[in-house]
Amino acid sequence: MTLGHVWLVGAGPGDPGFITVNGLAALRRADVVIYDRLASRDLLDETPTEAIRIDAGKSAGDHTLTQDEINALLVEYGLAGRRVVRLKGGDPYVFGRGGEEALALAEAGVPCTVIPGVTSAIGGLAAGGIPVTHRAVATSFTVVTGHEDPTKPHEGVDWARLAGATDTIVVLMGTARLDSIAHALIEGGRPATTPAAVVQEASTPRQRAVTGTLATIGELARTAQIGTPALFAVGDVVAFQRSLAPATLAPLAGKRVLITRTRAQASTLAEALRLEGAHPLLLPAIELDRRVDAAAAARAAAALGGGAYAWTVFTSANAVEAFLDALFAAGGDARSLGRTRIAAIGAATERALHMRGLRADLVPSEAIGEALGTALAVHVSGSRVLLPRAEGARDALPSALRAAGADVEELTLYLAAPPADPPAEVLAAVQGGQFDVAMFTSSSTVTNLAAMLGGDLSTLGNAVIACIGPIVAGTAREHGLRVDVVAEPHTIEGLVEATRAFLHARRPARTEVR
Ligand code: SAH
Repeated sequence: MTLGHVWLVGAGPGDPGFITVNGLAALRRADVVIYDRLASRDLLDETPTEAIRIDAGKSAGDHTLTQDEINALLVEYGLAGRRVVRLKGGDPYVFGRGGEEALALAEAGVPCTVIPGVTSAIGGLAAGGIPVTHRAVATSFTVVTGHEDPTKPHEGVDWARLAGATDTIVVLMGTARLDSIAHALIEGGRPATTPAAVVQEASTPRQRAVTGTLATIGELARTAQIGTPALFAVGDVVAFQRSLAPATLAPLAGKRVLITRTRAQASTLAEALRLEGAHPLLLPAIELDRRVDAAAAARAAAALGGGAYAWTVFTSANAVEAFLDALFAAGGDARSLGRTRIAAIGAATERALHMRGLRADLVPSEAIGEALGTALAVHVSGSRVLLPRAEGARDALPSALRAAGADVEELTLYLAAPPADPPAEVLAAVQGGQFDVAMFTSSSTVTNLAAMLGGDLSTLGNAVIACIGPIVAGTAREHGLRVDVVAEPHTIEGLVEATRAFLHARRPARTEVR
C-alpha cells in the first residue's frame, strides 16, 4: 500500500498570491484538498482537476465539519495513501488548530509536513496599511485571540496585563467583542487615546478599514458595519494607516480589475496585476472552439511542406497554437515551416512562435492588422500566402494582402465564442459594476462581453476602460464605452503600464500627514 502524506498549508490571509512557493507546489500535486472558509477559493483552481475538494468551512453557526471530523478525515485519507493538502487561512499554526491536526496525524502515523503561511495578524495588517512594528513607536507586538469573553471571570486572556506589556496588540476573532476588549485595555492602563483600527477581509477585493482610538473604535466599527473576518489592532503603529494604506502607495493597489481573456491566457495578466496589488476579476468572454477542417488542414500542410507558400502569417498566439496542433495532426511538424517565411502581428504572437521553436521573419512596429498588411505588401506580390486564423476574423489583413497582389489562402481553425457557462458569481459582480478597471485585449472580448451582458455595457460606465490597442479601443467605442487607456506598445506589459500611469496621474493630491 502506498504511504500517504498530509501537507498543512498556510494559504495566507486572502490574496491568493500570498501562498508560499512550497504551498503552491503541494496544491499542484494534491489528490485531496480540504480547505477552510478563510482560504482563498482562487487557490483551488491550482489543484489538479481530478482532485477531491472538501469544504471544511466552519462559518460561525453552521459547522460544515467539526474539528474531530476534520482530524479523522485527514487521518483516513492519509492512511488510504492519498496526497492531502489541508489548506488553511493565514498560517496553519496561528489560531488555526493546525497543531491539533498535526498531532492527530502524528498519532496515527501519517507523514505530515507543515508549510507556513503569511498570517493575517502580520500580512493582513500590512495589507490594511499598518506595519506591525516601527522603530520609532513599536518594538514589540502580541497576537491574541479575542474569542474569549473579557467579562467572564475565568477568561484566559489577561487583558489588563497585556495593556502595558507590549506595544502593538493584534486581536484575531475579536470583532464581536471590540467594546469589551477596548474597555479592558483602558482599564489595564492603556490610554483611551491610543490609535486603534479594524481591518475587515484584509488583502481581498472586499477589504475595508476603520481607524480611531481605543475610546471610539467600537462605535466607529458599528457605524461602518464592519463584518468578519476582521483584525483589531491597537497601538501607535495604527497612525501610519493614513500614509501607508496600499492604495496611497501604488496606483493599482486594491483596484478590482475585470479581465475578459480566456482562462488560459488570463494568467500572465492576472499575475502582473497582482504584483501591483490589484485584484483580478476573471470573466473569460471568449472560449476557443477548435474548428479545423481536417481535409483543408492536410492540404495546407502538404502544400506548406512542398514550399508552396512564400509567407505564413499569424495574427494571434491562439492561431499559432491552433495551427501547429492542426499541422501536427495532419502529419507535419515544425519542419513543415522550413520553406516558408513567417510573419507575426506582435510580441505575444512572436512569443508563441518562439515557444514552439520558430522565429518570425517579420513583425510590424504596431500590432494591428493594417500595419502587418502594410509591412507585408512589398513582399507578397504574386506569392501564395497562408493565413491560419479564427472564424469571423477581421478582413483588413487579407484585403490588404490581396490588394498587394498576393494569393491569400485562409485556413479557419477555431471560433472565438462567448463561453456557454460563465461563472454566475463573477457575472453578477460585473453586472453590479463591482470593479474599478476593465481591461480588453481583443475586439472579440468586447463584443462577446456585450453579448454576455445582454447587449448592454452600461455597468462598465464607472470603471476605467483600458484597451490593448486602437482597434480594440475602436470596438469599445462602438459599444458606447469611453476609453480611458490605449496601451502603447500593444502588449500585456504595455497595458498594465499604461493603466498604472493613467491612475497615477489621476490620483488625488497627497494630503499632508504629520
Ligand atoms: N490562521 C489564521 C487565523 C485563524 S483565526 C491566520 O494566521 O491568519 C481566524 C481569525 O483570523 C479571524 O477571526 C480574523 O480575526 C483573522 N483573519 C483571518 N483572515 C483575515 C483577513 N483576511 N482579514 C482580516 N482578518 C482575518
